[in-house]
Amino acid sequence: MPHSPLLLVHGGAWAIPNDMVEAHQRGVSNALAAGYALLQKGASAVDAVEAAVAVLEDDDIFDAGRGSFLTRDGRVQLDALLMDGATMRAGGVACVERLHNPIHAARLVLDKSPHVYFVGQGAEEFAQSHGMKLIDNSELVLDRERLRLQQAQAKERAGLPDLTFAGDDKSPETAAELASHDTVGAVALDANGNIAAATSTGGTLNKAPGRVGDSSLIGCGCYADNTSAAVSLTGWGEPIMKLVLGKWAVDRVQQGRAPEQVAPDAIAYLYKRLGGHGGIILLAPDGRCGIAHNTPRMAWGLCDARGPRTGIVIEDM
Ligand code: ASP
Repeated sequence: MPHSPLLLVHGGAWAIPNDMVEAHQRGVSNALAAGYALLQKGASAVDAVEAAVAVLEDDDIFDAGRGSFLTRDGRVQLDALLMDGATMRAGGVACVERLHNPIHAARLVLDKSPHVYFVGQGAEEFAQSHGMKLIDNSELVLDRERLRLQQAQAKERAGLPDLTFAGDDKSPETAAELASHDTVGAVALDANGNIAAATSTGGTLNKAPGRVGDSSLIGCGCYADNTSAAVSLTGWGEPIMKLVLGKWAVDRVQQGRAPEQVAPDAIAYLYKRLGGHGGIILLAPDGRCGIAHNTPRMAWGLCDARGPRTGIVIEDM
């Protein structure tokens, strides 16, 4: 029986300033339009999340693709993962520096490789061997981000706290004000009843070269399984990884709990256990979905038979 398709996307969870709200909402709207158009034509959930995330990677406002945060040494290093809930095939890349759209490389890993995960130069060479163009890292670097890095490093030299790794002595609100999390992600349900998830990020500001966060790790920042749910997370990556929080959430949906309830529970657990902050989108194969964040705002967009909606707090839903 054909299902009514649904696409849910996010563009990060943090204290998005008022003057950046419109750009975030425009970005998630464009991603919804691209992904949902495919679902309406009968494309798979994997195609839809890949297309939606590619649009978000191409948008400079987000911490994914061009315009991402810079590493300590001033480069962009990207991580992305894509997972197909129908087959449980997955493709991930991490620490890639020469690809415009890491999510397309992740798709190639999913489609064309017996492996699941490639990093660094090996990932770039794999993508290139399947037709992707390698670019110079400088094409991904914006002056805005050079300035942001300089400011972060000046604070570091002045002995001010490392904001990215704000610890559990801080309330979610305080921690979220200190660090921004503009990672992008999408979950989708297609007309055949299959679900998929994708997440893409430039990681955290001033990160050490070679650092990999939660976003591209299976079960951490992204996961999909038709027997449970599809999930994409954003936020402070280290606590999310330690809790394998994506899998934590989908397992609870598999046990019969409602995604609307599991999403806030996952974020509450993240904070209670490790003082983490961030946001989650979660979708069950029956079309029920949940969004939650413990940051002041989270850019999200949802499109189903009722049409597209976007918001910057969960109450907008
Ligand atoms: N989760 C990402 C990371 O730690 C950052 C983010 O969501 O903005 O790499």
